[in-house]
Amino acid sequence: MIDFRSDTVTQPDEAMRTAMANAPVGDDVYRDDPSVNTLEEWAASRHGFDAALFTASGTQANLLALMAHCERGDEYLCGQQAHNYKYEAGGAAVLGSIQPQPIDNAPDGSLPFDKLAAAIKPNDFHFARTKLLSLENTIGGKVLPLSYLAEARIFCDHHKLQLHLDGARVYNAAVALGVDITAISCHFDSMTICLSKGLGAPVGSLLLGSQAFINKARRIRKMLGGGMRQAGILAVAGQKALNENVERLAQDHANAQYLASELHQLDGFSTDAYQVQTNIVYVDIADTIERTRLQMRLIEKDIRVTFSGHPARLVTHKDISREDINTLIRAIADSL
Ligand SMILES: *Cc1c(COP(=O)(O)O)cnc(C)c1O
Repeated sequence: MIDFRSDTVTQPDEAMRTAMANAPVGDDVYRDDPSVNTLEEWAASRHGFDAALFTASGTQANLLALMAHCERGDEYLCGQQAHNYKYEAGGAAVLGSIQPQPIDNAPDGSLPFDKLAAAIKPNDFHFARTKLLSLENTIGGKVLPLSYLAEARIFCDHHKLQLHLDGARVYNAAVALGVDITAISCHFDSMTICLSKGLGAPVGSLLLGSQAFINKARRIRKMLGGGMRQAGILAVAGQKALNENVERLAQDHANAQYLASELHQLDGFSTDAYQVQTNIVYVDIADTIERTRLQMRLIEKDIRVTFSGHPARLVTHKDISREDINTLIRAIADSL
């Protein structure tokens, strides 16, 4: 199966499976798992934070961050398109009693500072207490400029806000910019990283922050049922992904460029309106094309896509090669 739906579909390769099978493990709720401890210590120091926490998912890591930064009745500023506002089942509100204050994302994915400033609530008992700004990088495959991140830090210091990064795909951003990850992470009080997207681990995310922040997040993780036991089996996969699968993200980005230009050649397909910066491709599909039928035709040829979105989204990752892209393009052309 050639799967363009997401970079979450990657399969662990033989070397990763072997590392998992041989991982030294213990009960991580007792802090006895050497593989989890190693990953957390390494990740904290590698990204310039005091401490780290291994979590079951990116959604859980974001929720822990929001609940550790904010108390009941506090508020966080975020984008209308933010994953931790729009795509996480309202967890901050449901489980944290934290009010989201979404702001329209600019076309480049950033949140304009004038709009953010206008949304900060005065210190008055009528209002929720604005505590946190949450950014996302990459967002819709787009990379936030480093200068914007530096301004966001100054903005948050000025307004006494904490600054969080949903960095599910932050390594795609660093590779696209050609900078070390710390050029991005250095601006934030906390950051998440998904190990199970383009990096290719089967399960898990990291939350990074100060020691006090991670202590609080660890307590909330237990409360939410996220305390895992012999989790080292997963942690070694995450460690391997971070050690070995970062530089190759550049291939996914080049493949995404290629995919966009090839799709654009097909009748009824246009990628004109969307710049490809990392591994996500957006495409407009003409109304004359029966999307559902085309999708079914492709499945018969062992190709999975999601064409329902407007625009539709395709994602490249380590299990998609140039030849797989050619196969997709030929299959669409034949079906049309
Ligand atoms: C995928 C994703 C998450 C959540 O990760 P899960 O592991 O699927 O819960 C959070 N933020 C962004 C931007 C993502 O793309």
